Amino acid sequence: MKLLEYEAKEIFKDFGIPIPRGVVITSPEELNDPALAGQFADEVAIKSQVDVGGRGKAGGIVLTRKEEAVEAATMLFQKEIKGLLPKVLLIEEKLPIQHEYFVSITIDRSSQSPTILFAGTGGVDIETTATTNPDALRRVKFSPLLSDVPGYAMRYLLGDAPKALGPVINSLYRVFCEKDALLAEINPLVVTPRGVYAADAKLIVDDNALHRQGIAVNRDLTPREREAEENGFSYVELDGTIGVIGNGAGLTMSTLDLIDYYDGKAANFLDVGGGAGHDRVMKAVRLIAGKPGVNVIVVNLLGGITRCDEVAHGIIEAGIDQDVIVRLAGTNEAEGRALLQTHGYEMLDTMEAVVRRAVEVGA
Ligand code: GDP
Ligand code: MN
Repeated sequence: MKLLEYEAKEIFKDFGIPIPRGVVITSPEELNDPALAGQFADEVAIKSQVDVGGRGKAGGIVLTRKEEAVEAATMLFQKEIKGLLPKVLLIEEKLPIQHEYFVSITIDRSSQSPTILFAGTGGVDIETTATTNPDALRRVKFSPLLSDVPGYAMRYLLGDAPKALGPVINSLYRVFCEKDALLAEINPLVVTPRGVYAADAKLIVDDNALHRQGIAVNRDLTPREREAEENGFSYVELDGTIGVIGNGAGLTMSTLDLIDYYDGKAANFLDVGGGAGHDRVMKAVRLIAGKPGVNVIVVNLLGGITRCDEVAHGIIEAGIDQDVIVRLAGTNEAEGRALLQTHGYEMLDTMEAVVRRAVEVGA
């Protein structure tokens, strides 16, 4: 997962990397707050927080006087950068940049070691530099067992560049390791009369490490999608009228295909996974039923480790308003059937039958 610039900068700051003073705003009016404006001198950099590279070139960065900041922010909130609108803007003090450098840390797969790339000419054109002047780019690899960038590697990277960049690069390497990053990059890393700063920040965290890093997998989830994720359900929202619960991707997908075949439209579907007990089934049914527009629910489950009587208990406990049409086959099928019948639920024998019934009731 790629973090936004301001999120990456917060992390960089925690690791001692100097970043420009800044605040995040969600609307231009926030800039009218005197306490906020008072944090900045005359000029500010306003930066669109969108998940794309090359923002500067695409017009996503405005350097302006404080008096014109509201106007610039209003414009940036409405400006699509490569098709994306920002939810927030980052307001920063404008840095008096004297020189821009580039530093990027990744893993070199073939040697299974961390690799640092450094260039004495950073900024928006680093890709061009890499192709037209590859000598300007220096690269080192070193043992992943080292917790700091070894001295020889740092000396080679920096060459004639200011020594003050060394500690920043080393801190960036610590971020890279501790945040399970695939990429940690500063472009530009700038020198100003007041010292060295990370003017931009890029951090991509390995998706496999998001859980231990405490980072939400997808921040644009609907409340139901979030609940599903917290419960370990595979859940997808569509725009029809029939809710679908299955176990296993194959059975769930076949159920969806059959709904389509009988001219129905699924509203959402959920795979409860293997061995679901009554409590999980209850949560699944309530989650599916909670989406506005769900008229009827199809439950199509195969009892293997999952027991049909547990499933029946879960459906009954959920106690939802919509009709639930059930097909259960396998372990404890008879017990499940008896339970559902006593509580007035419709249980049919085949997949075709439940789907056709659901389309009749819910279309
Ligand atoms: P990117 O285009 O998405 O990589 O955005 P950056 O944050 O790297 O900004 C692009 C360019 O804008 C930088 O290389 C700088 O030249 C310039 N820039 C960004 N922030 C400042 C600043 O505070 N002061 C000055 N003078 N230039 C800035
Ligand atoms: Mn940049």
